[in-house]
Amino acid sequence: MAKYTPMIEQYLGVKAEVPDAFLFFRLGDFYEMFFEDAVNASRELEITLTGREGGMEERIPMCGVPYHSAENYIAKLVEKGYKVAICEQVENPAEAKGVVRREIVRIVTPGTVMDARSLGETANNYIIAIAEQAGNFGLTACDISTGELHTTLLEGSLELLLDEINVYNPSEVLGSEQLLETIRGQAAAWMKGVSWTPWTKQEFNVDGHFAEGERQRVEPLSLHAISLLMSYLQETQKRSLTHIKHIRRYEQSQYMIMDPFTRRNLELVETVWDRGKKGTLLWLLDKTVTAMGGRLLRRWIEKPLMSMVKINERLEAVDKLYSQLIVREELRQQLKLVYDLERLTARIAYGSANARDLLALKVSLLQMPGLKELCATSGSETLARLSAGMDVCDDIAGWIETAIVDEPPVSVRDGGMLKMGYHERLDQLKEANISGKVWIAELERKEREATGVKSLKIGFNKVFGYYIEVTRSNLGVLPEGRYERKQTLAGAERFVTPELKEKEALILEAEDKMVDLEYELFVELRDKLASQVSRLQQLAEIVASIDVLQSFGTVSASHQFRKPEVDGGFELLIEEGRHPVVEAVMTGGLFIANETKLSQEAGSMLLITGPNMAGKSTYMRQVAIICIMAQIGCFVPSLKARVPVIDRIFTRIGAADDLIGGQSTFMVEMMDIQVMCEKATARSLVIIDELGRGTSTGEGMAIAQAVIEHLHDKVGCKTLVSTHFHELAHLEESLGQLRNYCMAVKESGRQVTFLRKLIPGAASTSYGIYCAQIAGLPDSIIQRSYDLLNSFEARAELAVAQSQTAAADSQATAGLLSAEPAVSPQARHTAQEPPLAYKTDSSQTTAAE
Ligand code: ADP
Repeated sequence: MAKYTPMIEQYLGVKAEVPDAFLFFRLGDFYEMFFEDAVNASRELEITLTGREGGMEERIPMCGVPYHSAENYIAKLVEKGYKVAICEQVENPAEAKGVVRREIVRIVTPGTVMDARSLGETANNYIIAIAEQAGNFGLTACDISTGELHTTLLEGSLELLLDEINVYNPSEVLGSEQLLETIRGQAAAWMKGVSWTPWTKQEFNVDGHFAEGERQRVEPLSLHAISLLMSYLQETQKRSLTHIKHIRRYEQSQYMIMDPFTRRNLELVETVWDRGKKGTLLWLLDKTVTAMGGRLLRRWIEKPLMSMVKINERLEAVDKLYSQLIVREELRQQLKLVYDLERLTARIAYGSANARDLLALKVSLLQMPGLKELCATSGSETLARLSAGMDVCDDIAGWIETAIVDEPPVSVRDGGMLKMGYHERLDQLKEANISGKVWIAELERKEREATGVKSLKIGFNKVFGYYIEVTRSNLGVLPEGRYERKQTLAGAERFVTPELKEKEALILEAEDKMVDLEYELFVELRDKLASQVSRLQQLAEIVASIDVLQSFGTVSASHQFRKPEVDGGFELLIEEGRHPVVEAVMTGGLFIANETKLSQEAGSMLLITGPNMAGKSTYMRQVAIICIMAQIGCFVPSLKARVPVIDRIFTRIGAADDLIGGQSTFMVEMMDIQVMCEKATARSLVIIDELGRGTSTGEGMAIAQAVIEHLHDKVGCKTLVSTHFHELAHLEESLGQLRNYCMAVKESGRQVTFLRKLIPGAASTSYGIYCAQIAGLPDSIIQRSYDLLNSFEARAELAVAQSQTAAADSQATAGLLSAEPAVSPQARHTAQEPPLAYKTDSSQTTAAE
C-alpha cells in the first residue's frame, strides 16, 4: 500500500497539534504549507499553488513563502483573523539522522502579535479571557506587546461584561464555547473582526509566576481568568512571559460606564462612518509625543474616572502646563527622543530585541534625568509626584552604553554590535580579524608590485572565499605558475595561492568565533536587561502619564478650553459650551456656544424640539463630551463648567446605523431603552435623540412620554431628550423637572436660517415640508403636503378631544396618550408662508407663541 513519505508523515503529525491554524512548515529557506492549508493560503495570500510528490499517487497541494519575508505573510493572515503556527527545524540538518526534527516554536494569533508591522503604534492590542461562574464574570485583558495585564470582576450582568469587553476593543477573546456563543449573539454587531477562541485549559502555574502580593489582591474568579489567559499564552508563545508580572486589578465602578452604542455615538476613539480616528475626541486631544502616551490617552478616554481626587490631580497638572508654554515645549522636546519603552521592554523580555532596540532604549533612558528634573520644577504637585516616582534607570543606560556600538546592524547573528573594550576575548578575536584584513591588503599591494598589474585586486565571496582577481587583458603578463586558477568570469580570472588559503582559514575561523561570541554576549546583556523589566515598565507608565498630561495642556491651551470644576454635587452647569470636535472640523462660520444648566432648581430634564439640522444632536453630544473630558482630567470647551461626577452616560442617538445588522432599528432602540431604564441612576446622564421614531406616530409618542415619565419619576437622572413630537411639550406642566427648549431659527424672506442657539420654549413644527420646498420639490407637491398636514392635524385634534373624554372615564390610559396639544390649533400652514417656531423681531429672537 502506498504511504506518505517520512517528511509528510512528520508534517501530518505536527499539523494535528494545530488543526485551527495555518502551519508554516520550515523546509530549508522556505515555509511550506500542504493540503488544505496550501489551498487556503494560496487564496488568502495570493501566492501560487503548486504540488509535491508525497508518496501517494496524487500530488499534494503545496505553496510556500521565503523565510526571510515570512513576517509579512504571517501579518497578513493574522490580520484576517487566522492563526499561524511556525514550525522550525530544531536540529542541524547536517547532524540529523533521517528527517530533521521539527517543532512548533510559536503560534501567532490576532491577540498575541509581537511584530511591529502588525501592531498599530498608538493602540493596544488586547486579548481577553473570561471565566464565568454563577452569572458572575472574571475578565482579564492583556497586551503582550507591552506586558500590561488588567483584571476585574463583573457581577451578575451580561451587559456589564459586554460593556467592559467593548472598552478594550480586543482582537481575540478566550472563554468556554458556550460563553463565547452567548457573547457573540449579543455583541456580534459591534465586535466585527474579533477572533473567538474556545479555551478552558488552565495549565499555567499562576502561583509560580506571579508574586504572592500580586495574586492576593485578586478575586478567585478573576484569577481563574488570568490562569486561562496565561495558559493560552504559554501554549502559543512557548517562552517565558516575564514581562507579564504585574496584575492591575480594578473595579468597574472606578470608571464611568458607557455601553458600546454610546461610545460609538459619541465618536470617542473612532468615527461612526469609517471607524477611523480623524474626527474623534481621541484625534482632537492627541498631542502626545510618545507611542505609549498615545496608547494611554486612548485608555483614559475609554475610561473616564469616578474619583474626584484623581480627576483633580490630573486637572492640577493640566492647569500648570496650560499656563506655562515653555515648560510644555521643553517636555515635548524631551519626550520626542523617547522611543516606545513599553514595547522595547517587552521585546527584551521576549528575547526578540536586537541591538538597535537596545540602542533605542538607551537613547530613551538618557532623556529621563532631564524629564524628571523638568517635572520636579514645573510647579505642579502632580508632576512633582510623578517625578519623585521616576527611577531613571541610569545604570541600565550605562550597561548599554558600554556595550553597544553607535550604529549596530539589524541582525544579531552577524556581529558588529559590541564595542571594543567590552569583552577581552572578543577584543582579541576582533584584533585577529583586523590584522588578518591588514595582511590581505598588504598581500594585494605586494602582488601588484610583483606582477606589475595595477588593477589586480583581492576580493571575497561566500562561495570561494578570498581570491586574487586579474582582468582578462592582464592575464598575459602573469608569471607562469604563480597562481592557482579558481574561477573564470567573463572579463576576468580569479586565483588563489596556498598562502592565501591558509590565511583565509585563520581569518574565517576567528570571524566565526567572533560572531558566535558576540551573539552570546549580546544575549547575556539582553537577559540582564530582561531581569530589570519591571523597573522599565514602571518608568514607561510614568512617562506615558506625563505625555498625556502635556497633551491635555497643549490642546487645552490651543483650543481655549477651560478648567472645569468637578464635584460630587448634582448640578451640571456649562456656560458657553461648544462641541470641540465639530468646532475643530468646521470649515466656514463660527461654532455657536450654548448654555447648559441641569439642576434640581433649573430642571434636570430638557425636552428639545426644533427642525432637522437645527443642531439638537450636536448640542446633546456636546454636553456628554464635556462631562467625559472633565472626568478624564482635561480642560473643557466652555467658558465655565461645573461637572458633577457622572456614573454612566447613556446615549440613544438613532442614526441609521450599519451596526444594527438584521435587527429592526426600532427593536434595538427599545432594547437599549430598556437597559437604560433599568441601569440609570440619579448620577447618570441620559441622552435620547429622536425618541420614539420608527413606529407609528401615536405609538411613538406614547412610548416617548412613558419613557420620559419613568426617567423623571423613578430615576431622577439628568436627561436630554430631543423629539420631533412637539406635542410632548405639554409635559412641562405635569413634570416638575422637565423644561422645554428648542433651537432658534430665523426667517428672512423665504429663507430659514438656523441660529444654533438653544432657547427656552417649544418649537411648533419641524419644518419638514419647508425643507422639501427648499430642496426643490414641485410647488404642486408642496401645496398638497401643506393641505394634507392641515387635515391630519385637524383629525388629530379631534382624536385628542375624544381621548380626553375617554381619559376622564378611564384613568388607565391617561398616562400614555397626550392630553393637551402643546401647539395652539390656530397655527395653520400655507405654502407661501412657512411656519416659524421663532419669528425674528428686528434683531431679537423670541418665542412665537
Ligand atoms: P439636528 O440634530 O437638529 O438635526 P445636528 O446637531 O445634526 O442637527 O446639526 C446639524 C449641523 O449643524 C451639524 O452638522 C453642524 O455642522 C451644524 N451645527 C450644529 N450645532 C452647531 C453650532 N452650535 N454651531 C455651529 N454649527 C452647528
